Amino acid sequence: MPIAPNTLALIGNTPLVRLNGPSEAANADIFGKCEFANPGASVKDRAALFIVEDAEARGLIRPGGTIVEGTAGNTGIGLALVANAKGYRTIIVMPETQSREKMDTLRALGAELVLVPAAPYSNPGHFVHTSRRIAEETPNAIWANQFDNIANRRAHIVGTASEIWEQMDGRIDGFTCAVGTGGTLAGVGLGLKERDGDVRIALSDPHGAALYEYYACGELKSEGSSVAEGIGQGRITANLEGAPIDTQFRISDEEGLEWVRRLLDEEGLCLGLSSGINVAGAVRLAREIGPGARVATILCDTGFRYLSTLYNPEWLISKGLPVAETLRGD
Ligand code: PMP
Repeated sequence: MPIAPNTLALIGNTPLVRLNGPSEAANADIFGKCEFANPGASVKDRAALFIVEDAEARGLIRPGGTIVEGTAGNTGIGLALVANAKGYRTIIVMPETQSREKMDTLRALGAELVLVPAAPYSNPGHFVHTSRRIAEETPNAIWANQFDNIANRRAHIVGTASEIWEQMDGRIDGFTCAVGTGGTLAGVGLGLKERDGDVRIALSDPHGAALYEYYACGELKSEGSSVAEGIGQGRITANLEGAPIDTQFRISDEEGLEWVRRLLDEEGLCLGLSSGINVAGAVRLAREIGPGARVATILCDTGFRYLSTLYNPEWLISKGLPVAETLRGD
């Protein structure tokens, strides 16, 4: 690999790794796209770069300007590092329920952090609406608007999908991931289908999200809840419009956590819960396609971002989730 001219050139072109335990469980080949290898340690660096460069190309932001966004954290981290590299400020609005590590990382990056109580999307105090208002009131500012700004999914059509296709030599039977904005699922889905219409695209939805019901029976309806950060959508965002979804799975936190544990204990991969839910979905998709299926999914972010939650026995117990033997320290 040649020397990168700057940090932004390190975004994307992430490795693809064979996930041996999941492959064995499904009698298939399951591959994980290592998005934790981006400079901000998540898949959202890609969207952040495309959103900022799209705003620059359209003349929406001028030198010294401010980028404002509502985010579960990872997009904020991506935007803050892109902004630092390009000389902009960032204001990040985040629900106060997200992990301490994300808040600390954002502050360390120099972002101005605005924490708001978790609220439904219909509430004007919801983090997305608050961020839009702050952007409107701030001079020389843009609202990144990751949910409905399709520069987000373009990052995955141009980048992630092409990379997966090339890394797998065009031999891919299925792809699945969960949805936050939908940029990854729709972008990778569209990019892969463009090359081979037979690639099966699956949604892996956490409990508490409304998309499983939507793709299964046309109704936005949710059931239960999830502690997974960054995923769980209740509406069809602009990024999701026209997403080529062939099939859908509903994945519990317990099922996702089981893979998070196994991938750490057996393969040395430290991941967040959305990655575990994606891997659980990939196992189901591979079983549905049949023996020998070649399925890719996304390893969205690093587990080091969740040491105070997913890897903390007290926190797991407080959420009624099982504590792995290896975490008990006895
Ligand atoms: N996992 C994590 C940890 C995330 O932060 C996000 C982004 N919100 C996603 C998955 C989902 O990605 P997308 O927004 O592209 O749907």
